[in-house]
Amino acid sequence: MSMTASPDNQVHIRDLSFQLLFSETMVQERVRALGAALTESHAGLNPLFISILSGAFVFASDLIRVFDDDCEVGFVKLSSYKGTRSSGDVQTVMGLEKDLHGRHLVVVEDIVDTGRTLHFFLNHLQEQEPASITTVAFLRKPHAVEFPVPVEHIGFDIEDKFVVGYGLDYDGLGRNLPGVYQLIEG
Ligand code: 5GP
Repeated sequence: MSMTASPDNQVHIRDLSFQLLFSETMVQERVRALGAALTESHAGLNPLFISILSGAFVFASDLIRVFDDDCEVGFVKLSSYKGTRSSGDVQTVMGLEKDLHGRHLVVVEDIVDTGRTLHFFLNHLQEQEPASITTVAFLRKPHAVEFPVPVEHIGFDIEDKFVVGYGLDYDGLGRNLPGVYQLIEG
């Protein structure tokens, strides 16, 4: 098996070991708080949640279920991230079919690292003249933000270390872990 769990709150994926950072309980508690904040700001607006695939799909699916009013959901696929370091160019490879003009958008991202992905995507959305754009990122690596992007809601600020779980993968594995695990370096 390529992914194994051990009793010391570690998981082993291929050649790497990861330590539990946020348990499922901590994650769900935080997501509920984010959902409550979004309900407060967006109830009655029929917001369109835009989930950036693939990493944000788990977060987005939990987030919309704690949003307590009408909303719609769309998905966009941007270029992939290989290994444990950000790759170069970001491109939309699967777009949104909905008309965004005049809509209240909630962009759902798994993690902001350099900010390159969001920077690109938010510019792309602005061109379609939505009524508003609100960005929600489950995780943010604050010292690594090279592209300044507005992120209104953050789940957790974390260190500049590679993480897996809750939708985030290492080499395709680990997305199904209900908590978040941080790479043990060295
Ligand atoms: P950015 O464009 O902000 O540099 O990177 C954002 C994307 O890189 C995220 O959507 C995610 O796919 C990927 N990424 C950044 N840091 C990590 C990490 O620690 N773990 C995983 N699995 N992906 C990451």
